[in-house]
Amino acid sequence: MQRQWVAEAIAKIQADFQRSADTHLIKLDLPDLQGIDIYLKDESTHPTGSLKHRLARSLFLYALCNGKINQHTTIIEASSGSTAISEVYFSRLLGLRFIAVMAKSTSIEKIKQIQHYGGECFLVDATDLIYAKSEALAEELQGYYMDQFTNAERATDWRGNNNIADSIFKQMKNEPNPIPKHIVMSAGTGGTSATLGRYIRYHQLTTELTVVDPENSIFYDYFLTANKALTHNKYSLIEGIGRPRVEPSFITSVIDHMMRISDKESIATMLWLETLLGRRVGPSTGTNMMGVLKIAKRMHEQGETGSIVTLLCDRGDRYHKSYYNPQWVASHIGDISQQQNNLTGYFV
Ligand SMILES: *Cc1c(COP(=O)(O)O)cnc(C)c1O
Repeated sequence: MQRQWVAEAIAKIQADFQRSADTHLIKLDLPDLQGIDIYLKDESTHPTGSLKHRLARSLFLYALCNGKINQHTTIIEASSGSTAISEVYFSRLLGLRFIAVMAKSTSIEKIKQIQHYGGECFLVDATDLIYAKSEALAEELQGYYMDQFTNAERATDWRGNNNIADSIFKQMKNEPNPIPKHIVMSAGTGGTSATLGRYIRYHQLTTELTVVDPENSIFYDYFLTANKALTHNKYSLIEGIGRPRVEPSFITSVIDHMMRISDKESIATMLWLETLLGRRVGPSTGTNMMGVLKIAKRMHEQGETGSIVTLLCDRGDRYHKSYYNPQWVASHIGDISQQQNNLTGYFV
């Protein structure tokens, strides 16, 4: 009976995948960076609007194939919002109750979207409380805590199977420089950077992986010190990335370089991307793109050519009231005019 349900659940997820299209790899039109081609893998076009759609699919398959979910299981997740939106989509597909445990600072747009799919939101006072509350709820309801921050790196088949790395490299095939010199990605769970780094090694590619980290995140310090016990008492202001503790899913051994990007740089770059693309992207895409521009500038100065790939992680429509509101930016991030002016310096 339960095996039957699990088999049907997996078939439903596979059928959903079959109905889905792959995400686009956008080539940016930046004529001033001669010989350096920049690409954005647009993860905002998944049905639930972010790269977390891939993660949620992988986490559900991982849990189902490990015998952790049946037709009566309540799914619980600790999230800053985007993962919960993607997981509630799959919970609904399988007819399962879903509860997101989130900090009360989570944007109302994200909360509404979770509720739209029939999910419940349990709000706690601060980000560092989401883990323990999720565990407690799972115990109380005999549910299953998805635990993205632990399971992200292991739920994805890093060798291939159409993961994000596989998709990027296949889409690059007919480009002038098909093997990127650099891939740049930020880290929330660290799952995506782990998949990219492992894939690069497995396929014996020369691509270097750079992880960009925002302010108030512990990942960069951990990369430098290898001290897993480090914590930070502040929270990243860039939604989706940067963590106050070293997440188990964050794997430094497959990362070639890390770079700190200031929040002002991230937001200035996010706004600049809006003018370049004609649509709004989320703030972590600004962080990613700032990393790309710094690498591109260095390559340009050293006379190097080649391609650089990064991710467009989510759309801007989740952030109208925050990062796209100048007053909010002025009071939370500060005056970004200097960083906006500096952007022109990348195209000399
Ligand atoms: C989760 C997330 C990231 C980081 O991806 P991970 O694979 O979790 O490291 C970046 N941007 C956004 C918007 C995210 O939601």
